[in-house]
Amino acid sequence: MSNQSSKAFIALGSNLENPVFQIQHAFEEIKQIPGTCLLCHSSLYKTAPMGRLDQPDFINAVALIKTQLAPHDLLEALLMIEHNHGRMRKSLNEPRTLDLDILLYGELQYQDEVLTIPHPRMAQRAFVLKPLMEIAPHCQIPGYGPIAPLLELCQGQQLERIKV
Ligand code: ADP
Ligand code: MG
Repeated sequence: MSNQSSKAFIALGSNLENPVFQIQHAFEEIKQIPGTCLLCHSSLYKTAPMGRLDQPDFINAVALIKTQLAPHDLLEALLMIEHNHGRMRKSLNEPRTLDLDILLYGELQYQDEVLTIPHPRMAQRAFVLKPLMEIAPHCQIPGYGPIAPLLELCQGQQLERIKV
């Protein structure tokens, strides 16, 4: 863990076993990650599934954290939380109790076998861009630019802000 901290955005998603509860519980668990604090999070959004359509709607949100963990250590901590929520990893686009992705980590652009930052599909997903817009409207995605025009390109994607 370093003395310096970085701001990072985390995407949360769930479509199994009371998704609203899964996301709210995950916010609490993110607060418990060593060297990390949760600065704020977006509202929850209900979104239609992408890829595989024969599965329940998702609940999605985005959180802003400040962390002293390096990107790989942060990923490990997030995968541990997913695991604690009983996530079974089988295939891409499958239903899941909890998915936690690192969207942005400071200004970092990075890629290896296990980690790509910015998250490679974030710029095409309304369920990421809309909650991100809510909590960080002026944020820039390294390599892609500002959020608003990216979100405009996702207009066909259904999502609805929910009150809990
Ligand atoms: P997805 O979230 O794209 O639906 P998974 O949650 O099954 O897919 O993630 C599979 C793997 O993606 C993780 O084990 C992780 O190693 C890798 N990965 C690459 N970049 C990232 C990132 N920015 N955030 C989270 N996981 C990532
Ligand atoms: Mg994931």
